[in-house]
Amino acid sequence: MNTGILDQQTQDSKKRLASLVQEGRAASTVQLEKIPVKGYEQVIKVTDNQSQLTAIIAIHDTSMGPALGGIRIQPYASWDAALEDVLRLSKGMTYKSAVAEVGFGGGKSVIIADPKTQKTPELLFAMGSAIEKLGGQYICAEDVGCTTEDCKIIRRATKYVVGLAQAKSSGDPGPFTAWGVFRGVQSAAKKLFGSEWLEGRTIAVQGLGNVGSHLINYLFWAGAKLILSDIDPVKLQRLAAKYGAKTVSPDQILSVECDILCPCALGGCINDQTIPQFRCKAIAGAANNQLLKGSHALDLRERGILYAPDFVINAGGLLNVAAELEEEGYHPSFPRSKIHRIYDCLLAIYDIAEKNKDSTHAAAIALADYRIKYGLGKRITISFCGHYRGPSVNDRSSEILENIPLVAIVHICASLKPPNATLICLRRLNLVLDIFYSLFNTNGFYQVRRWKRSNAF
Ligand code: NAD
Repeated sequence: MNTGILDQQTQDSKKRLASLVQEGRAASTVQLEKIPVKGYEQVIKVTDNQSQLTAIIAIHDTSMGPALGGIRIQPYASWDAALEDVLRLSKGMTYKSAVAEVGFGGGKSVIIADPKTQKTPELLFAMGSAIEKLGGQYICAEDVGCTTEDCKIIRRATKYVVGLAQAKSSGDPGPFTAWGVFRGVQSAAKKLFGSEWLEGRTIAVQGLGNVGSHLINYLFWAGAKLILSDIDPVKLQRLAAKYGAKTVSPDQILSVECDILCPCALGGCINDQTIPQFRCKAIAGAANNQLLKGSHALDLRERGILYAPDFVINAGGLLNVAAELEEEGYHPSFPRSKIHRIYDCLLAIYDIAEKNKDSTHAAAIALADYRIKYGLGKRITISFCGHYRGPSVNDRSSEILENIPLVAIVHICASLKPPNATLICLRRLNLVLDIFYSLFNTNGFYQVRRWKRSNAF
């Protein structure tokens, strides 16, 4: 490999990005156009001629908090295909956030481009500028085709990014999502066989990407017999050798005989063609929008196949990102117990479905709708920006102090005398830090706080 050329390319793209930031060019050339779609708060077409950006941002529902969802970069066959995908994905995020009780709404965005050949710093920067223009109504993260490194570039244009690979940020959600899916697989085993024990169970995994590759590691150590498939033959062989797993071709994986099938590639894998072919007892995987149509969940029920609703089982990454809003700042141990309990949540959903004689998908939607209707888990309290540890800030005093010039606050702090004023001094110091963080835009949550205030949260 000629690393010299690669180094040169990296240098060039860094320089291009630096000049974009300096000129703030993309912000002025990005066009936002609202597309009215029934049942969605906002659907926005984003274009930028200079960077060749064509994207859609869908904000489905913000009644539980600002819309949060990843950016998917894919070379969609048509505009309609991209629109359909972003609408389904953003609605799924509303349900996912409601069931997980993270206090976010549902949103998603898609960039119509080939991530291998068309993803440039200009394109990502322009997308960031579009997100910035929405003022915090939509918060983005990585998704298929968009890496945490790409998010770093997007971060140069907007504050509204979570899941960055840096200190006090939650980073790559893959391992966390995978742990939630693992717990979901255990819940399926518990429901099917009366025990969550996976030793000797045959588990088929479709897609060995960011989630699938971690999932098979957890499954291996739990003693499962693995059948793997991926469209990337090199990756497939490497991982099959590592875990002593069987492999099948991508067109065979969905019809392979197994106890539990884990779709961890793309959505739409449960459809009229695949349902008659399934030879599994349960489907429990990470992929978003596994059901091509909601009614396919009933078809699975009729075939006696247990289905772990995708937006419940794959919420681990979201729970991880949500931990960035913890008052004390992100720590990987915060989301752990919540992700662990995806197991309990799924068992409850299987029971509700059984009692209602309905699909597990319908039971999960009913649970989400109930939480949204009564605002259970809604983001009401104003979170501290949380990227450093220390006592939290009183919101009222924070609001007053935000309007006082920084120099004046520093002066007041300096004039307070111990011991009586020590506590006040600490609180003021905290506020000063808060304001510093907001000034230097270290994260988007200061802005989220403002967003929440302006929306009467
Ligand atoms: P990824 O792009 O890292 O991995 C996808 C993998 O699937 C790749 O290895 C790809 O080669 C493979 N693949 C694609 N088509 C295939 C096919 N037909 N048969 C077999 N393999 C195929 O994506 P990811 O981050 O691992 O996410 C996987 C799925 O889980 C996606 O649907 C994503 O939306 C969903 N999801 C991911 C997260 C997360 O934290 N990354 C969270 C929630 C949901």
